[in-house]
Amino acid sequence: MTNILIYCDIDEGAFELLSWGKKVKDSLHATISAVLLGKGAKGKAADYFAYGADKIYWSEQAALTDFYADVYADALFQIANTNDHDIVLIGSTRRGKELAARLAQKMQAGCITDAGGIELKGQDLVVHRYTLGGNTLSSEVLKTAKKVISVLPKSFEKSVKTAGQGEALEVSLTLKEPKTKIVEKKGKAGDAVSLEDAQTLVCIGRGLNKKEDLPLVETLAKTLNAEIGCTRPLSHEWQWLSEQREVGLSGKKCKPRLCVELGISGQIQHTVGIRDSKVIVAVNKDKTAPIFEMVDYGIVGDIYEVVPKLSEKLKTV
Ligand SMILES: Cc1cc2nc3c(=O)[nH]c(=O)nc-3n(C[C@H](O)[C@H](O)[C@H](O)COP(=O)(O)OP(=O)(O)OC[C@H]3O[C@@H](n4cnc5c(N)ncnc54)[C@H](O)[C@@H]3O)c2cc1C
Repeated sequence: MTNILIYCDIDEGAFELLSWGKKVKDSLHATISAVLLGKGAKGKAADYFAYGADKIYWSEQAALTDFYADVYADALFQIANTNDHDIVLIGSTRRGKELAARLAQKMQAGCITDAGGIELKGQDLVVHRYTLGGNTLSSEVLKTAKKVISVLPKSFEKSVKTAGQGEALEVSLTLKEPKTKIVEKKGKAGDAVSLEDAQTLVCIGRGLNKKEDLPLVETLAKTLNAEIGCTRPLSHEWQWLSEQREVGLSGKKCKPRLCVELGISGQIQHTVGIRDSKVIVAVNKDKTAPIFEMVDYGIVGDIYEVVPKLSEKLKTV
């Protein structure tokens, strides 16, 4: 019997992992448990059962109110250890990546972070992830008895919610004082956007000459009822758009029904974030741009000429 433990600081991420667990549990002869920590943990149990958890371990201890990676890793370790969990899946959020490494060290487990998929080969979990700056897709199998794997959001399809039920156990944890202390909390600068959930996405790259030209893209996005995403240079180096809008290896991984790529060359570090889109359309003035190798529809042209025409035309559809 394999015991799989799931934790993600974002519930949607946990639901995706649980949905995967539900699919493979029979083949692995596994039980799927989930961990809920912090304020309001107990109240979320019903939703977690609905996505496939057999068991929930929850704690609302005061020490878990704020997120401290060392304290949370300790909490997960105590739960995994006392209940004999061999495999821990963690959502690869910013917090999750750090937790995975800390937890693996405590469990003496092998660790893979930023998995983009997990495949079953017999009883082996073959973990797929991008390596070498996104230029290579590697498939890895952890040979250690215990395994910790952090999985990128949107790697697994969320299943339909069912009327599931299971056992919710309150755990009593012995937690040390965190090694750091939060002295002040400030809202993050930048806009709140959930690109991962967008059905339509318009992505802009370095084909845009200046920030003042963004309305060109905004008009098209508005017409298509789309969210705007961008390549790394625009969010990182030039800071024309917030980092929440960066799409790719170090940005968001999106799965829209339609993705329009404007003035983007198609480097792998960006395209890993859009490759699961249902339909991809690109506009690029260079007909040899790599982006054209992966699109459903390609327009060779200048975005300054093509995009206004597209927006006009689409308004009449
Ligand atoms: C570890 C690592 C992680 C990274 N993570 C990410 C990531 O998450 N996301 C990401 O996006 N990048 C990421 N990058 C950067 C990535 O490698 C590329 O540098 C970046 O994606 C290129 O952005 P771009 O396509 O906008 O620019 P470019 O590669 O410069 O392409 C611009 C394109 O615009 C076209 N163009 C120019 N003018 C016009 C015009 N007027 N009309 C039409 N087309 C025009 C050009 O022909 C060209 O193809 C990462 C890099 C590393 C090393």
